[in-house]
Amino acid sequence: MSEIILTGIKPTGKLTLGNYLGVLKHLPETMNRGKPYIFIADLHALTLPIDPEELRQNSIDIAAFYLAAGLDPNKATIFLQSSVPAHAELNTIMQNYMYMGELSRMTQFKDISAKMGISKNAADAHIGLGIFAYPVLMACDIVLYDSDIVPVGDDQTQHVELCRDLVNRFNHRYGDILKMPKAEKRKVGARIMSLSDPTKKMSKSDPKGDIFLKDDLSVIRKKIMSAVTDSGNEVKYDMENKPGVSNLLSIYAATKGISIEEAEAHFAGYRYGDFKKDIADAVCEDLAAFQERYKHIIETKEYEKVLHQGAEQANKVANQTLKRVKQAVGLLDLD
Ligand code: ATP
Ligand code: MG
Repeated sequence: MSEIILTGIKPTGKLTLGNYLGVLKHLPETMNRGKPYIFIADLHALTLPIDPEELRQNSIDIAAFYLAAGLDPNKATIFLQSSVPAHAELNTIMQNYMYMGELSRMTQFKDISAKMGISKNAADAHIGLGIFAYPVLMACDIVLYDSDIVPVGDDQTQHVELCRDLVNRFNHRYGDILKMPKAEKRKVGARIMSLSDPTKKMSKSDPKGDIFLKDDLSVIRKKIMSAVTDSGNEVKYDMENKPGVSNLLSIYAATKGISIEEAEAHFAGYRYGDFKKDIADAVCEDLAAFQERYKHIIETKEYEKVLHQGAEQANKVANQTLKRVKQAVGLLDLD
């Protein structure tokens, strides 16, 4: 069956090994399954303060990373979210069908408010509406392309669930207008944790213990060799009691494309030092080739043509969905 698959990355910071193992590395597979829409979520990046030049540079990097990961722009539509105005326009309509209560229950929103050290009462004063309403725009991203599948790491599954609720609500009221999407979680590498605090997700907007995709290989090696491990000396997967070792096992398994059990079997009898050295070797080997391709794409500016072509294709599809929605809710269609 040919499926429509949609996924995006926010250009909020330098991409990490978590983004690579959780998403980028798996993107080429999507081309064999159906029609992929792969975007740079630049509007979402504005939900937290960001320097304009950084935002531009990060956006270019993500486009180049998509290509370096092996996506073929003739099979996958690669585009910037902001180059398709239908996202913002549908957002204006859809925000009326998602409720404040459900939005305020989202873990990401709660985490960010907590991180900003803002008490409940002061919250309204310091947090932009965009970060609160983030799942509305994300739902629009998904439904605009009639997406069947949304591959996500753990952190985004809640938002896809909310999108499904929205689709149900909207279709119940207006008929069969929006396609029902499904989140797809990867088992290995779904949640790569920080190397310095393996109880926290490796995240580009909170970069502690991160490996960045543009780090020199020598730096990457050093970071892995000094990753936090746990007491004891056995290499065993046990997220609760051995989060450091378990995270390194996940990194190895995701890098090699094997299961955790296979990774565990490979390291049976290893000491921590040798264990880390093998992981550093595997990660560096994989990223060396990836970085070479990235550099070439940046030099040739190949991403420019790709983003133009992607915008054209994405606009065509998104505008059809928008038209359907506008008609359904009763906005006059003058065409
Ligand atoms: P931010 O801190 O800005 O939220 P992020 O690193 O979480 O950045 P996103 O742009 O939110 O990155 O997510 C891009 C994709 O990468 C999503 O599909 C997300 O689930 C995935 N992802 C992000 N962090 C990890 C991680 N540590 N392990 C695996 N996948 C991840
Ligand atoms: Mg995130």
